[in-house]
Amino acid sequence: MYEKTIVLFDLDNTLFEAQNSRLSAVRKALCETFGWTRFPWQDYFLLRDHSKVFDHCFRQSFHHFWAAPELVILTRALQKGIVGRQELLANLSTLRWQLESAESRYWRIGELEAARKRILQGSSFLRSLRRYVNSERANPKMAEIQNAYEKYENLVLYPRVKELIDAITGVPGVLAYVATEGDYGQQKKKIEKLKLGDEFRGKILASELLKHNVFYLRSMRRITRSLRTGGYWRRAESHRYIVDDERLRLFKLCWGKRHGFFYRAILAAIASNPTAPEIALVNLDVSELLDSRKLSFGRIIMVGDRIDLDVNPIWNLYGKRSLTLRVLKGPYSKIVAPVNPPASNYREFSSTGRALANLLDTIRG
Ligand SMILES: [Mg+2]
Repeated sequence: MYEKTIVLFDLDNTLFEAQNSRLSAVRKALCETFGWTRFPWQDYFLLRDHSKVFDHCFRQSFHHFWAAPELVILTRALQKGIVGRQELLANLSTLRWQLESAESRYWRIGELEAARKRILQGSSFLRSLRRYVNSERANPKMAEIQNAYEKYENLVLYPRVKELIDAITGVPGVLAYVATEGDYGQQKKKIEKLKLGDEFRGKILASELLKHNVFYLRSMRRITRSLRTGGYWRRAESHRYIVDDERLRLFKLCWGKRHGFFYRAILAAIASNPTAPEIALVNLDVSELLDSRKLSFGRIIMVGDRIDLDVNPIWNLYGKRSLTLRVLKGPYSKIVAPVNPPASNYREFSSTGRALANLLDTIRG
């Protein structure tokens, strides 16, 4: 129990310019490795459009990996004409449609997982695509590209961000965290590269850290095992499987910022372990993650760039106790909301430096 001010910082496009630095790093790594003079953006983004298929076929959260070996291999295969463009796109579109239909048809995770497996294993196209990708993965260039990309060489904080964050985290009664959508490992590497590792040690609350939650993994294992042995279908209505299904569904709602469940989860983790909520996040059950009754804090302040992910969920959840400082930077800066939170709870800034200076004044009172 505490009456502190909690400050949450979004990362990409809020503390640093993410879009161009990410794409220029991908272009540099691939062009240098393969000797391309021009980067095939069209093919690259055509493939990224089908991230949903690759999420299940290659690796979880594929869309968070901008230089994933599988993506590099397929972009190159299109360039060299190894895979027919029409055939690849037609098959990927069909698979994506089938996966999305299954998601809307099956509410229980057990049924959805079974349907996904049927779709993916039933596609001979996908089997040969996977064989091809696996054979190419051994090429040492693939690892080189990913390593080069994940050095995040061109990441730089926006001006004055470091000194202002140091000042903000030094104000008594203020607890500051990074609240970001994305893969925990990659977001942590970015924080280190941006030299904010000391300020946010144990405090990088990345949405997909929840994929490592012990309760999530335990229920997922139980459901997968029971699907394999057929036990799930015999006892689908048993208490255990209903609880597992519902728990997994709630966890999945926490994987993104949009619905607000992520913020409830991280606030519960902060309440349970303010100095290292990362640990709490992977060790709490979802019922506790979503229980905000025991939360007690004076004010919650969010600094972010997106209306849909950073502004609205915080206002909807915490209302008058919240303040959102929106930084008009990056690809979402032009997006206008039909209604903004009232001026007492929402401010816009043309730069992160200005937003943080305002935040510092606000918390110093
Ligand atoms: Mg952002």
